[in-house]
Amino acid sequence: MSEATMTYEKPLPVLDPESTPFWEACREHKLKIVRCLDCGQVRFPPTSFCPHCNSAKLEWIEASGKATLFSWIVVRHPVPKDVYALDVPYVVALVTLEEGVRMPTNIVGCAPEDVTAYMPLKVLFRDVTPEITLPVFAPDRG
Ligand SMILES: [Zn+2]
Repeated sequence: MSEATMTYEKPLPVLDPESTPFWEACREHKLKIVRCLDCGQVRFPPTSFCPHCNSAKLEWIEASGKATLFSWIVVRHPVPKDVYALDVPYVVALVTLEEGVRMPTNIVGCAPEDVTAYMPLKVLFRDVTPEITLPVFAPDRG
Protein backbone atom coordinates (compact mmCIF):
# COMPACT_ATOMS: atom_id res chain seq x y z
CA MET A 1 0.00 0.00 0.00
CA SER A 2 1.46 3.35 -0.98
CA GLU A 3 1.68 6.26 1.40
CA ALA A 4 -1.06 8.11 -0.49
CA THR A 5 -3.64 5.37 -0.08
CA MET A 6 -3.26 5.04 3.69
CA THR A 7 -5.44 7.12 5.94
CA TYR A 8 -3.62 10.34 6.71
CA GLU A 9 -4.41 11.38 10.29
CA LYS A 10 -2.46 14.64 10.51
CA PRO A 11 -3.76 18.14 9.94
CA LEU A 12 -4.01 19.10 6.27
CA PRO A 13 -3.94 22.52 4.64
CA VAL A 14 -7.31 24.15 3.98
CA LEU A 15 -7.33 25.45 0.43
CA ASP A 16 -8.64 28.92 -0.31
CA PRO A 17 -8.77 30.83 -3.62
CA GLU A 18 -5.36 32.43 -3.00
CA SER A 19 -3.54 29.21 -2.06
CA THR A 20 -5.22 26.71 -4.40
CA PRO A 21 -2.76 27.26 -7.30
CA PHE A 22 0.13 26.57 -4.89
CA TRP A 23 -1.35 23.24 -3.79
CA GLU A 24 -2.30 22.28 -7.35
CA ALA A 25 1.33 22.82 -8.35
CA CYS A 26 2.56 20.74 -5.40
CA ARG A 27 0.33 17.92 -6.61
CA GLU A 28 2.36 18.07 -9.86
CA HIS A 29 5.58 18.16 -7.78
CA LYS A 30 6.26 21.78 -8.66
CA LEU A 31 6.95 24.53 -6.14
CA LYS A 32 5.27 27.74 -7.25
CA ILE A 33 5.30 31.26 -5.83
CA VAL A 34 3.64 34.51 -6.84
CA ARG A 35 5.45 37.32 -8.65
CA CYS A 36 4.04 40.82 -8.99
CA LEU A 37 3.69 41.86 -12.63
CA ASP A 38 4.09 45.54 -11.72
CA CYS A 39 7.11 45.64 -9.38
CA GLY A 40 8.57 42.17 -9.93
CA GLN A 41 8.73 41.22 -6.25
CA VAL A 42 8.05 37.58 -5.39
CA ARG A 43 5.97 36.65 -2.37
CA PHE A 44 4.93 33.75 -0.20
CA PRO A 45 2.39 32.91 1.07
CA PRO A 46 0.36 33.87 -1.98
CA THR A 47 -1.84 36.94 -1.62
CA SER A 48 -4.14 38.68 -4.08
CA PHE A 49 -2.46 42.05 -3.64
CA CYS A 50 1.26 42.82 -3.71
CA PRO A 51 2.46 43.88 -0.23
CA HIS A 52 5.13 46.08 -1.89
CA CYS A 53 3.07 48.09 -4.42
CA ASN A 54 -0.55 46.94 -3.83
CA SER A 55 -0.91 45.72 -7.42
CA ALA A 56 -3.40 42.93 -8.12
CA LYS A 57 -1.52 41.85 -11.26
CA LEU A 58 0.36 38.64 -10.57
CA GLU A 59 1.79 35.56 -12.14
CA TRP A 60 2.70 32.18 -10.72
CA ILE A 61 6.32 31.20 -11.31
CA GLU A 62 8.02 27.90 -10.60
CA ALA A 63 10.69 28.18 -7.91
CA SER A 64 14.00 26.38 -8.37
CA GLY A 65 13.30 24.21 -5.32
CA LYS A 66 16.63 25.20 -3.80
CA ALA A 67 16.70 26.86 -0.40
CA THR A 68 18.83 27.49 2.67
CA LEU A 69 17.82 26.91 6.25
CA PHE A 70 16.84 30.11 8.06
CA SER A 71 15.44 28.83 11.39
CA TRP A 72 14.23 25.58 12.92
CA ILE A 73 13.07 23.72 16.01
CA VAL A 74 13.30 20.02 16.84
CA VAL A 75 9.99 18.59 18.05
CA ARG A 76 10.63 15.85 20.62
CA HIS A 77 7.27 15.76 22.45
CA PRO A 78 4.44 14.75 20.10
CA VAL A 79 1.28 16.85 20.36
CA PRO A 80 -1.24 15.37 19.98
CA LYS A 81 0.60 12.29 21.14
CA ASP A 82 -1.38 9.69 19.20
CA VAL A 83 -0.92 11.55 15.90
CA TYR A 84 2.80 12.39 16.02
CA ALA A 85 4.22 9.68 18.33
CA LEU A 86 5.93 7.83 15.47
CA ASP A 87 7.41 11.02 13.97
CA VAL A 88 9.44 12.46 16.82
CA PRO A 89 12.03 13.79 16.77
CA TYR A 90 11.25 15.87 13.67
CA VAL A 91 12.32 19.26 12.39
CA VAL A 92 9.97 22.20 11.77
CA ALA A 93 11.77 24.88 9.81
CA LEU A 94 11.60 28.19 8.02
CA VAL A 95 13.63 28.04 4.81
CA THR A 96 14.69 30.83 2.46
CA LEU A 97 14.01 29.91 -1.15
CA GLU A 98 16.60 30.81 -3.76
CA GLU A 99 14.05 33.40 -4.99
CA GLY A 100 14.24 35.17 -1.61
CA VAL A 101 10.96 34.30 0.12
CA ARG A 102 10.65 32.22 3.27
CA MET A 103 8.49 29.11 3.60
CA PRO A 104 7.51 27.02 6.65
CA THR A 105 8.22 23.33 6.12
CA ASN A 106 9.82 20.19 7.55
CA ILE A 107 13.43 19.09 7.11
CA VAL A 108 13.77 15.43 6.19
CA GLY A 109 16.58 13.15 5.11
CA CYS A 110 18.97 13.91 7.94
CA ALA A 111 19.13 13.51 11.71
CA PRO A 112 17.85 16.54 13.66
CA GLU A 113 21.29 16.97 15.27
CA ASP A 114 22.86 17.33 11.81
CA VAL A 115 20.68 20.31 10.90
CA THR A 116 22.72 23.53 10.69
CA ALA A 117 21.96 27.16 9.90
CA TYR A 118 22.19 28.12 6.23
CA MET A 119 22.57 24.50 5.13
CA PRO A 120 21.68 24.08 1.43
CA LEU A 121 18.35 22.33 0.87
CA LYS A 122 16.25 21.05 -1.99
CA VAL A 123 12.51 20.47 -2.13
CA LEU A 124 10.93 17.01 -2.09
CA PHE A 125 7.24 16.26 -2.41
CA ARG A 126 5.19 13.93 -0.23
CA ASP A 127 1.85 12.79 -1.62
CA VAL A 128 -0.11 12.39 1.62
CA THR A 129 -3.65 12.20 0.21
CA PRO A 130 -5.00 12.08 -3.35
CA GLU A 131 -5.62 15.84 -3.09
CA ILE A 132 -2.71 17.06 -0.99
CA THR A 133 1.03 16.90 -1.62
CA LEU A 134 3.26 18.52 1.00
CA PRO A 135 6.56 20.16 0.08
CA VAL A 136 9.40 19.25 2.46
CA PHE A 137 13.11 19.98 2.25
CA ALA A 138 16.15 17.72 2.47
CA PRO A 139 19.88 18.48 2.52
CA ASP A 140 21.13 19.33 -0.99
CA ARG A 141 24.34 17.39 -1.23
CA GLY A 142 24.84 18.58 -4.78
ZN1 LIG B 1 4.25 44.78 -6.63
